[in-house]
Amino acid sequence: MPTRLPPVAVEKTQWRDLYNEVVLTGLCTGCTSCIVACPFHVLGYEDNVPVQLQEEGPDGCSHGDKGCDICTRACPRFREWESEIDELFFGQTRKPEEIIGQYRDIYLARATGQESLMHGQDGGAVSALLVWGLENGEIDGACTSKLSDERTWDAEPTVVTDAEGVLATAGSRYTYSANPMALLKAAEMGLSKVALVGMGCQSSVTGALEFRRVNKWRRKIAWTFGLLCSKSFTYDGLMVEIAQKELGLDLDHLARVNVKGKLLFYTDAGDEVVYPLKEAHRFTRPGCLRCPDFAAEHADISFGGLGQSEGWTLSIVRTERGQDIWDRATADGVIEHRPGAEDPKAVELMFKLAAKSRERWPTSEEMPAAGTTPGVLPAV
Ligand SMILES: Cc1cc2nc3c(=O)[nH]c(=O)nc-3n(C[C@H](O)[C@H](O)[C@H](O)COP(=O)(O)OP(=O)(O)OC[C@H]3O[C@@H](n4cnc5c(N)ncnc54)[C@H](O)[C@@H]3O)c2cc1C
Repeated sequence: MPTRLPPVAVEKTQWRDLYNEVVLTGLCTGCTSCIVACPFHVLGYEDNVPVQLQEEGPDGCSHGDKGCDICTRACPRFREWESEIDELFFGQTRKPEEIIGQYRDIYLARATGQESLMHGQDGGAVSALLVWGLENGEIDGACTSKLSDERTWDAEPTVVTDAEGVLATAGSRYTYSANPMALLKAAEMGLSKVALVGMGCQSSVTGALEFRRVNKWRRKIAWTFGLLCSKSFTYDGLMVEIAQKELGLDLDHLARVNVKGKLLFYTDAGDEVVYPLKEAHRFTRPGCLRCPDFAAEHADISFGGLGQSEGWTLSIVRTERGQDIWDRATADGVIEHRPGAEDPKAVELMFKLAAKSRERWPTSEEMPAAGTTPGVLPAV
C-alpha cells in the first residue's frame, strides 16, 4: 500500500557518517538494517553493532568514497529519521505531547484460537494475525525471533512461513534479536511480502527504507508489527548472571520469561521465580540505552503486555494499513478486542513508560552536529 512519495535527499552521506554519528555515539540499536541493505556486503555484525569488513579502518568504506550512501539511508536512527518517517506515515511530525506517537486507536486484544493464545506471550494477538496473514496469502513469511540453537534461551532472527513456525516462535525473549536481519534469509527464500516483527528500533526500519527509497528492501515488507519495549538485556547479564548464577535456574528447564514490573522466570515444573527489575538494569544492552521509542511508533500496529488482566495484548493501531489488517482480521474472527479505555491503568502505564524512554534521546544541545568526527555524547 503506497504512502506519499518523499522528497529526494540532496546531500550525499556514507558509512563514515553513519559510523561517526550513529555507531560511535551509541545511538545505534543494532537493528541491522544497514547490513541488510548494503549492496556490497561489506558490513558485518559484532557485539550488536555494524562493523566495516573491509580493511580501511572502522569508518572507512571504499564504496562510500565512491558515492554509495545506502547504509545511511537504511538506518532508522540516522539524522532526521523520526520526523521523516512520521511525515511519511502520518503526514506530520509527532508533537511532544503525542507521547506514544501517532495512532488511530488503542485496544486490548486476544487471539480467538487456542493455539495462538496458549503460545503467545500475552494475548497471542501477534501470532494470530501472522497465522491469518500467511493462511490468506497476504504475507508469504514473517521475520520473527526464535530461541537460539547455539546458546540456550538466547534469541535470534528467523523466517517463518506457516502456522507451525509462527507458533514455535511465539512468546517473548528478553535478549536482543535483530529481526530485520532475517530479511536476507527471506530474500534467499524468494519471499516478497513478509511481516517484520520487532521492537521500536526495528519497526522504524520500514519507514526509513521507504522514505529514503531503499526500494529493493522496502518492497519486501508487507506488514510491520511493533513490540512495546523499554529495553532488552545482555545474554550474559540476564541468562548467565541472573538466571543461572543468582537464581540457580537450569536454562534447560526454563519454560518462559516475562517482565511485568519485575522479572519473572517460569520453570517447566510450574515454579515462578521473581527477580527485581531494578537490579537487572545494570544488564541493559548498551544499544537500548539511548532508544527513545518505547511504543514502536512507526509500526502498522504495536503490541504490548501492559494489560492489567492476564492474556490480553495492548494493541495500538497506527497506520491505515494497520487499521485495514485489524478490521478484516476482526471480521474474520481471528482476534477479539475491547477498547483500551477499559484498562486505564495499562494505558496510563504505557504513556508513563513512553515518556521515560523519550528522555534517553540526546537533546539538540547534546547532539553532535551532522558531519562532526567523531560524535561524542554524554554517558548514560
Ligand atoms: C525484548 C522485549 C521487550 C519487551 N518489553 C515490553 C515492555 O516493556 N512492555 C510491554 O508492554 N511489552 C513489552 N514487550 C512486548 C510483549 O512481551 C509481547 O511481545 C507483546 O505483548 C505481544 O504479545 P502477543 O502475545 O500478542 O505476542 P506473541 O504472539 O507471543 O508474538 C510475539 C512475537 O515477538 C517475537 N519476539 C519474541 N522475542 C523477541 C525478541 N527478543 N526480539 C524480537 N522479536 C521477538 C516472537 O518471535 C513473536 O513473533 C517486549 C517484547 C520484547 C521481545
